[in-house]
Formats: sequence, structure tokens, C-alpha cells
Amino acid sequence: MKKILTLILTICLSLSSVLIVKAEDFDTDKDKYIEMCSKPDSQKTPEEVTICKAFMNYMASQSTDLNKQLKEIEAKREEIAKDIKIYAEKIRGYDIQIANLKKEIDALNSEIVIKQEEIRIKEEEIAAQQAEIDALKEKLKNRMITAQKTMRINKYLDILIGAKDFNDLIRRTNGINSILSYDQATLDQMADMIIQLNIAKDALEVAKAELDSKKQEIVNKQNTLLVYRQEAEIVRQEYMKQSAELEAQGNRIAGNLEAIKNTMAEIASKLVEIAASSGFVRPLSGGRVTAGTWHYPASFGGGVHLGMDFAAPSGTTVVAVGNGVILKSVDGCGVGYLGNSCGGNLGGSYGGGNQIYLLTNINGNLYAVKYIHLLAGTPIATGTIVSAGERVGAVGSSGNSTGAHLHIEVFYLGSGSIANYAQNWNGDLAFGAGWGLAALSRLCENGVGAPCRVKPESVFGG
Ligand SMILES: [Zn+2]
Repeated sequence: MKKILTLILTICLSLSSVLIVKAEDFDTDKDKYIEMCSKPDSQKTPEEVTICKAFMNYMASQSTDLNKQLKEIEAKREEIAKDIKIYAEKIRGYDIQIANLKKEIDALNSEIVIKQEEIRIKEEEIAAQQAEIDALKEKLKNRMITAQKTMRINKYLDILIGAKDFNDLIRRTNGINSILSYDQATLDQMADMIIQLNIAKDALEVAKAELDSKKQEIVNKQNTLLVYRQEAEIVRQEYMKQSAELEAQGNRIAGNLEAIKNTMAEIASKLVEIAASSGFVRPLSGGRVTAGTWHYPASFGGGVHLGMDFAAPSGTTVVAVGNGVILKSVDGCGVGYLGNSCGGNLGGSYGGGNQIYLLTNINGNLYAVKYIHLLAGTPIATGTIVSAGERVGAVGSSGNSTGAHLHIEVFYLGSGSIANYAQNWNGDLAFGAGWGLAALSRLCENGVGAPCRVKPESVFGG
């Protein structure tokens, strides 16, 4: 009887304790409750059993929230994907217009080269004609100076030599009887040559005017080209921004969570044995940092970027940054492209392509590390236990990616153990540190506690 009374009393006390534990407490002391509830029921006090039931309900309700969030993200994703299609078409349109303009400018440039050659030849001809005329004038002048006393044409001489209206002058001098027939022939020849010269000069002017208009046409077309390029650049940046947002929104709940749980349960004894490593190992040797966190460079549209990008040749070895276990591995995406969604369909992050999630203990702290865009066939399997520096995959360009690079994200998960976390993980591929823009409110550098996002540059160097 006393035993029964004690039991009733214990249950009553347990129920009152449950009322005291609020959702906030579950949230802030998640590690404590996970640890408490990971024990078999036989090792729990009756109070703990009741609390753990409430805790499990709380976790389930959180999952409902997660699922709701996921649905919202899916809707947003579809909207962005639609926008991206429009942007891609706009960019293609600009590319075609730019290519056509370039062709037109090239054609104009070759026309100008031809025109310039024509002008050069005309100028040479004119110079030669001018030289001949000058020589004839000189000859005539000399003859007239010799004959001027008798011929009395002195008063015409200056006009004759410098005259522009030469035809008229010749007509008038024709009337002068004293001009010898020899001089008359020279004058006629000169008149002909001057007519030819004037025709050539007119033609030269026309050619020059044509050249000028072609040059102006090129300037106009080049200005148009500039405008197109600017417009295309604006659209491209918007496109990159949207695409970045798509990447940032890409986190989701891991597929096949049951299988992961089973795997982690199977290797539970090995998980306990994983030793903490000291310091972060760089995920790859070499690799040029092309984009850092938490935003893309302005030239890439400046969208949210929750990881660090290392550009490296496809196939470059990627290693574990610390001792740990592969919590989730996704393989089966080919080479991707901007807007490619591969990864989500395989239970990983949307657009992440081939990806792995490493759970590691560094200096006594628990971290999750997300590696995405890996080369097909290289990510090592879920449940593989790895040492710091050990190969976990290779650089690729799978999923939403335009070139071979490693995108890496680091999550600080507190001071819990690998074994506990691995066996109780709710499958959130953002590890409770949020998606997209919302993720920016969970940055460790702002003093936010676990789970929070670690700036990869702070552990791998800029
Ligand atoms: Zn990236």
C-alpha cells in the first residue's frame, strides 16, 4: 500500500514538473534533455520518463514547424526559379543583340578600312596631278617672262600663275595673238588637268564625308552596345542574387532520416570512441577563395552567401576538417549549372549537388560541416568515421554551380557529444541555425549561442 502511495505521489510530482518545463527550457537546454532522454527508460527516473515524453512531443512539434517552413521555402523557391527563367531569357536576348551589334560594327570597320584606302589613293593622285600642274605653270611662267617684252601679257601673269578660275583665264588669253601656239597647247593641257584635279578633289570630299558618317555610325552603335551591356549586367547581377538566395534557401531536412538513425545506432559504440581533434584542418590544399561569407561580392550580385567558396580543379581532394562521422552523404548529381536543383531530390540540400555533412569534435566543441558541389562518385558514405585530414570527397561542380569549387559551411552545435547528437539528430541540414536571410540572425560572431553559424574564414583563414 505504501508502495502504491509512493508511486502515485511520484506521478503527481512528475506531472507538476512537466508543467514547469516550458518549451523555452527545452530549446535552451536541448543538449541536457537529449542526453537525459537518450538513456534507456530503465536508467531514467519516473520523473525523467515523463519529462522525456514531453520533450519528444516538443521535438515533434518543432518538426511540424520545420515542415511548415519548408513548405514556405518550396513556394519561394518556385517563384525564384520562375524569375530565374525570365532573367536567363533576358540575358540571352541581350547576348543576341550584343552579338549582332558587334557584327555590324565589324562590317562598318572593314568598310572604313576600304574607304580610307580609297581616300589615300585619291590623295596620291591629286598630289601627282598638282605636281604636274605646278611644273607646267613653272614652265609657262618662265617662257612668258622671257617673252613678256614683246607679248605684253605681263598683266595676266600673276593671275595666270595663281588663278583658280583658270578656264576663264585661258578663254581670255586665247584672244591674245601674241601667244605662241606652243604656249597655247601647254595652257590647254593645264586647263584639262585642273578640271581633272577639281573632279578628284570633289570625289575626295565625298569619300571623306562618307568616312565621317561611317565613323559616327560606329560611335552610335558602340553607345547602344554599352547600354545593352549595362542592362545585361544589371539583369545578370539580379540573376546571381536570386540564384544565391536559392542556394541560401537550399537547406532542408535530410531525406532517409530513419536509415540515418539506424546507421548511427549500429555504430553507436564507435561514435563514443571518436577522439576530439585539436584545431580545424583546411578542407583542401590550395584553392582560391572566390566568395566569402556572409554575402557574395558585389560583382556577383551581393546576395546572401552562407558559406565560403574555394575554386579548385575538379577532382581536388577534399578532407575532413576534424575527427568525426559522416552524418549524411548525397551522391548522384552530374555536372550542374546556375539554377540546377540537384541534391534536394536525393535528400540533401536543394542545389547542393553531391554533398556531405560531417559531425566533428574540435577542441571539445561540437561542429557540423557542410561540403557541397562535390564530384559525382566521390562523397564517402553516411556513417563513415573519419580522422582529421582524411579524404571525404573531391571538388566538383554539381548542383547550382557554374564552375569547379568547394562551398563549405560550419555550424557550432555546443558542447554535446558526437554520439548523442548523431543518434538524436532531427535531420535539419541547417542544424537549427536557419535558412536563407533568417540564417543571418544566427551568426556565432554576434554572440548567438549554439546552434549558430561559424564564419568559415575565421577557422580556415581568408
Ligand atoms: Zn558558395
